[in-house]
Amino acid sequence: MTGGSSEWVRVSNDLRWADSHVHLFSIEEGAEVALERARAAGIELFVCVGTDLATSQACVELATAHLDVTATVGLHPHDAVNLHRELEQLDELSRHPEVVGIGEAGFDLFYEHSSHAEQEEAFRWQVSLAKFLGKSLVIHSRDAWDDTFRVLETEGVPEKTIFHCFTGGPEEAERALALGCYLSFSGIITFKNADDLRAAAAITPLERALVETDAPYLAPVPHRGRPNEPLYVSYVGEALAAAMGREVEEVASVTTATSKRLLGH
Ligand SMILES: [Zn+2]
Repeated sequence: MTGGSSEWVRVSNDLRWADSHVHLFSIEEGAEVALERARAAGIELFVCVGTDLATSQACVELATAHLDVTATVGLHPHDAVNLHRELEQLDELSRHPEVVGIGEAGFDLFYEHSSHAEQEEAFRWQVSLAKFLGKSLVIHSRDAWDDTFRVLETEGVPEKTIFHCFTGGPEEAERALALGCYLSFSGIITFKNADDLRAAAAITPLERALVETDAPYLAPVPHRGRPNEPLYVSYVGEALAAAMGREVEEVASVTTATSKRLLGH
Protein backbone atom coordinates (compact mmCIF):
# COMPACT_ATOMS: atom_id res chain seq x y z
CA MET A 1 0.00 0.00 0.00
CA THR A 2 1.09 3.56 -0.54
CA GLY A 3 0.75 5.04 2.90
CA GLY A 4 -3.04 5.05 3.06
CA SER A 5 -3.52 7.99 0.72
CA SER A 6 -6.99 8.91 -0.53
CA GLU A 7 -6.08 7.80 -4.03
CA TRP A 8 -5.24 4.36 -2.75
CA VAL A 9 -8.54 4.02 -0.93
CA ARG A 10 -10.51 5.07 -3.99
CA VAL A 11 -8.95 2.58 -6.39
CA SER A 12 -8.91 -0.36 -3.99
CA ASN A 13 -11.56 -2.98 -4.68
CA ASP A 14 -11.00 -4.78 -1.43
CA LEU A 15 -12.27 -2.32 1.14
CA ARG A 16 -15.81 -2.67 2.35
CA TRP A 17 -17.38 0.10 4.42
CA ALA A 18 -20.62 0.79 6.23
CA ASP A 19 -22.09 4.27 6.51
CA SER A 20 -23.57 4.09 10.00
CA HIS A 21 -25.49 7.38 9.77
CA VAL A 22 -26.89 9.00 6.64
CA HIS A 23 -29.98 11.07 5.88
CA LEU A 24 -30.67 9.53 2.48
CA PHE A 25 -33.99 11.36 2.16
CA SER A 26 -32.18 14.72 2.25
CA ILE A 27 -29.70 14.02 -0.54
CA GLU A 28 -30.57 16.51 -3.22
CA GLU A 29 -29.86 14.44 -6.32
CA GLY A 30 -31.81 11.55 -4.81
CA ALA A 31 -31.04 8.55 -2.63
CA GLU A 32 -30.91 6.09 -5.55
CA VAL A 33 -28.10 7.85 -7.39
CA ALA A 34 -26.03 8.24 -4.23
CA LEU A 35 -26.60 4.61 -3.25
CA GLU A 36 -25.51 3.35 -6.67
CA ARG A 37 -22.30 5.35 -6.60
CA ALA A 38 -21.47 4.22 -3.07
CA ARG A 39 -22.20 0.55 -3.77
CA ALA A 40 -19.82 0.63 -6.73
CA ALA A 41 -17.10 1.82 -4.32
CA GLY A 42 -17.68 -1.00 -1.81
CA ILE A 43 -20.11 0.45 0.71
CA GLU A 44 -22.22 -2.41 1.98
CA LEU A 45 -24.59 -0.94 4.55
CA PHE A 46 -26.40 2.37 4.79
CA VAL A 47 -28.17 3.29 8.01
CA CYS A 48 -30.84 5.82 7.14
CA VAL A 49 -31.51 7.95 10.22
CA GLY A 50 -34.85 9.63 10.92
CA THR A 51 -35.19 12.96 12.67
CA ASP A 52 -38.98 13.20 12.96
CA LEU A 53 -42.06 11.21 11.92
CA ALA A 54 -41.96 12.12 8.21
CA THR A 55 -38.24 11.39 7.78
CA SER A 56 -38.48 8.21 9.84
CA GLN A 57 -41.24 7.01 7.50
CA ALA A 58 -38.99 7.88 4.53
CA CYS A 59 -36.19 5.79 6.09
CA VAL A 60 -38.48 2.79 6.53
CA GLU A 61 -39.59 3.08 2.89
CA LEU A 62 -35.98 3.15 1.67
CA ALA A 63 -35.03 0.25 3.94
CA THR A 64 -37.99 -1.75 2.64
CA ALA A 65 -36.93 -1.10 -0.95
CA HIS A 66 -33.19 -1.84 -0.52
CA LEU A 67 -31.55 -4.85 1.13
CA ASP A 68 -28.46 -2.84 2.09
CA VAL A 69 -30.41 0.01 3.75
CA THR A 70 -31.69 -0.13 7.33
CA ALA A 71 -33.71 2.50 9.16
CA THR A 72 -33.90 4.28 12.47
CA VAL A 73 -36.97 6.00 13.86
CA GLY A 74 -36.55 9.01 16.06
CA LEU A 75 -37.03 12.59 17.03
CA HIS A 76 -34.02 14.91 16.73
CA PRO A 77 -33.55 17.33 19.64
CA HIS A 78 -34.41 20.16 17.21
CA ASP A 79 -37.84 18.54 16.73
CA ALA A 80 -38.42 17.49 20.32
CA VAL A 81 -41.17 20.11 20.54
CA ASN A 82 -43.28 17.75 18.40
CA LEU A 83 -43.05 14.80 20.78
CA HIS A 84 -46.66 14.70 21.88
CA ARG A 85 -48.00 15.16 18.37
CA GLU A 86 -45.86 12.37 16.89
CA LEU A 87 -45.27 10.00 19.81
CA GLU A 88 -47.97 7.48 19.04
CA GLN A 89 -47.01 7.04 15.38
CA LEU A 90 -43.27 7.04 16.12
CA ASP A 91 -43.89 4.36 18.71
CA GLU A 92 -45.81 2.24 16.23
CA LEU A 93 -43.27 2.74 13.42
CA SER A 94 -40.36 1.85 15.72
CA ARG A 95 -41.61 -1.75 15.85
CA HIS A 96 -41.28 -2.19 12.07
CA PRO A 97 -38.83 -5.03 11.23
CA GLU A 98 -36.67 -2.74 9.05
CA VAL A 99 -36.08 -0.47 12.04
CA VAL A 100 -32.78 -1.28 13.74
CA GLY A 101 -32.43 1.75 15.99
CA ILE A 102 -34.07 4.62 17.82
CA GLY A 103 -32.93 8.20 17.26
CA GLU A 104 -31.25 10.38 16.53
CA ALA A 105 -32.09 11.52 20.01
CA GLY A 106 -30.42 13.65 22.61
CA PHE A 107 -29.59 17.26 23.26
CA ASP A 108 -28.57 20.12 21.01
CA LEU A 109 -27.93 23.07 23.27
CA PHE A 110 -26.03 24.89 20.52
CA TYR A 111 -29.17 25.68 18.54
CA GLU A 112 -31.85 24.94 21.16
CA HIS A 113 -34.65 24.87 18.54
CA SER A 114 -36.71 23.00 21.16
CA SER A 115 -36.51 23.90 24.84
CA HIS A 116 -34.15 22.09 27.17
CA ALA A 117 -37.08 20.44 28.96
CA GLU A 118 -38.65 19.28 25.66
CA GLN A 119 -35.32 17.84 24.51
CA GLU A 120 -34.89 15.96 27.77
CA GLU A 121 -38.39 14.51 27.69
CA ALA A 122 -38.00 13.34 24.08
CA PHE A 123 -34.57 11.87 24.82
CA ARG A 124 -35.76 9.99 27.92
CA TRP A 125 -38.66 8.53 25.97
CA GLN A 126 -36.38 7.33 23.18
CA VAL A 127 -33.84 5.83 25.61
CA SER A 128 -36.58 3.81 27.25
CA LEU A 129 -38.05 2.81 23.87
CA ALA A 130 -34.66 1.55 22.65
CA LYS A 131 -34.28 -0.48 25.83
CA PHE A 132 -37.80 -1.87 25.62
CA LEU A 133 -37.43 -2.93 21.98
CA GLY A 134 -33.82 -4.11 22.32
CA LYS A 135 -32.85 -1.86 19.42
CA SER A 136 -29.83 0.43 19.13
CA LEU A 137 -29.92 3.99 20.45
CA VAL A 138 -28.44 6.68 18.20
CA ILE A 139 -27.42 9.74 20.21
CA HIS A 140 -27.01 13.30 18.99
CA SER A 141 -25.20 15.39 21.61
CA ARG A 142 -24.04 18.92 20.94
CA ASP A 143 -22.76 21.20 23.70
CA ALA A 144 -24.54 18.93 26.15
CA TRP A 145 -22.19 16.30 27.54
CA ASP A 146 -23.33 16.58 31.15
CA ASP A 147 -27.02 16.46 30.27
CA THR A 148 -26.51 13.52 27.93
CA PHE A 149 -24.56 11.47 30.46
CA ARG A 150 -26.99 12.39 33.26
CA VAL A 151 -29.97 11.04 31.31
CA LEU A 152 -28.09 7.88 30.28
CA GLU A 153 -26.99 7.23 33.84
CA THR A 154 -30.47 7.72 35.28
CA GLU A 155 -32.45 5.90 32.54
CA GLY A 156 -29.88 3.13 32.12
CA VAL A 157 -27.81 2.73 28.97
CA PRO A 158 -29.31 0.56 26.21
CA GLU A 159 -26.99 -2.31 25.34
CA LYS A 160 -26.23 -0.94 21.88
CA THR A 161 -25.77 2.82 22.28
CA ILE A 162 -23.97 4.89 19.65
CA PHE A 163 -22.75 8.46 19.95
CA HIS A 164 -23.36 9.62 16.39
CA CYS A 165 -20.95 12.24 15.01
CA PHE A 166 -18.87 12.03 18.16
CA THR A 167 -17.19 15.40 18.67
CA GLY A 168 -15.69 15.11 22.14
CA GLY A 169 -12.11 14.84 23.27
CA PRO A 170 -10.42 12.01 25.18
CA GLU A 171 -12.27 12.85 28.41
CA GLU A 172 -15.74 12.55 26.85
CA ALA A 173 -14.65 9.46 24.93
CA GLU A 174 -13.57 7.80 28.16
CA ARG A 175 -16.90 8.65 29.79
CA ALA A 176 -18.89 7.21 26.90
CA LEU A 177 -16.71 4.11 26.61
CA ALA A 178 -16.98 3.47 30.34
CA LEU A 179 -20.77 3.29 29.90
CA GLY A 180 -20.31 0.68 27.18
CA CYS A 181 -21.18 3.04 24.32
CA TYR A 182 -19.86 3.05 20.77
CA LEU A 183 -18.42 6.16 19.09
CA SER A 184 -19.27 6.96 15.49
CA PHE A 185 -16.78 9.23 13.75
CA SER A 186 -17.84 11.61 10.96
CA GLY A 187 -16.07 13.85 8.44
CA ILE A 188 -15.08 16.15 11.29
CA ILE A 189 -12.17 13.81 11.97
CA THR A 190 -10.65 14.97 8.66
CA PHE A 191 -10.81 18.66 9.62
CA LYS A 192 -7.58 20.47 10.33
CA ASN A 193 -8.72 21.81 13.71
CA ALA A 194 -9.95 18.46 15.05
CA ASP A 195 -6.85 17.40 17.02
CA ASP A 196 -8.86 16.84 20.19
CA LEU A 197 -11.22 14.51 18.33
CA ARG A 198 -8.29 12.60 16.81
CA ALA A 199 -6.87 12.24 20.33
CA ALA A 200 -10.22 10.76 21.37
CA ALA A 201 -10.07 8.34 18.43
CA ALA A 202 -6.56 7.29 19.45
CA ILE A 203 -7.85 6.00 22.82
CA THR A 204 -10.99 4.35 21.39
CA PRO A 205 -10.78 0.57 20.97
CA LEU A 206 -11.33 -0.24 17.30
CA GLU A 207 -14.14 -2.63 18.28
CA ARG A 208 -16.07 0.33 19.73
CA ALA A 209 -15.71 2.64 16.71
CA LEU A 210 -17.99 3.25 13.74
CA VAL A 211 -17.74 5.51 10.71
CA GLU A 212 -20.48 7.64 9.18
CA THR A 213 -20.99 10.46 6.71
CA ASP A 214 -24.08 12.18 8.22
CA ALA A 215 -24.68 13.06 4.55
CA PRO A 216 -25.76 15.41 3.10
CA TYR A 217 -24.05 17.33 5.92
CA LEU A 218 -20.44 17.44 7.12
CA ALA A 219 -18.55 16.44 3.98
CA PRO A 220 -15.02 15.30 4.82
CA VAL A 221 -11.88 16.88 3.43
CA PRO A 222 -11.31 17.13 0.42
CA HIS A 223 -15.02 17.77 -0.18
CA ARG A 224 -15.56 19.97 2.88
CA GLY A 225 -18.18 22.68 2.35
CA ARG A 226 -19.90 20.79 -0.48
CA PRO A 227 -22.80 18.31 -0.32
CA ASN A 228 -21.80 15.07 1.33
CA GLU A 229 -22.76 11.56 0.20
CA PRO A 230 -22.22 7.99 1.48
CA LEU A 231 -19.45 7.45 -1.10
CA TYR A 232 -17.18 9.65 1.01
CA VAL A 233 -17.26 7.41 4.08
CA SER A 234 -13.85 6.04 3.01
CA TYR A 235 -12.26 9.43 3.72
CA VAL A 236 -13.62 9.25 7.25
CA GLY A 237 -12.35 5.71 7.68
CA GLU A 238 -8.94 6.63 6.38
CA ALA A 239 -8.64 9.57 8.79
CA LEU A 240 -9.82 7.35 11.64
CA ALA A 241 -7.17 4.75 10.76
CA ALA A 242 -4.49 7.43 10.76
CA ALA A 243 -5.65 8.77 14.16
CA MET A 244 -5.68 5.26 15.59
CA GLY A 245 -2.36 4.29 14.03
CA ARG A 246 -3.93 1.30 12.28
CA GLU A 247 -4.15 -0.07 8.77
CA VAL A 248 -7.10 1.17 6.72
CA GLU A 249 -8.02 -2.43 5.82
CA GLU A 250 -8.40 -3.33 9.47
CA VAL A 251 -10.50 -0.25 10.25
CA ALA A 252 -12.74 -0.95 7.25
CA SER A 253 -13.37 -4.58 8.12
CA VAL A 254 -13.88 -4.08 11.88
CA THR A 255 -16.10 -0.97 11.64
CA THR A 256 -18.19 -2.64 8.94
CA ALA A 257 -18.65 -5.76 11.05
CA THR A 258 -19.60 -3.66 14.07
CA SER A 259 -22.09 -1.63 12.05
CA LYS A 260 -23.72 -4.79 10.75
CA ARG A 261 -23.96 -6.18 14.27
CA LEU A 262 -25.45 -2.99 15.78
CA LEU A 263 -27.39 -1.56 12.87
CA GLY A 264 -27.73 -4.29 10.23
CA HIS A 265 -30.67 -6.60 9.63
ZN1 LIG B 1 -27.69 13.04 11.59
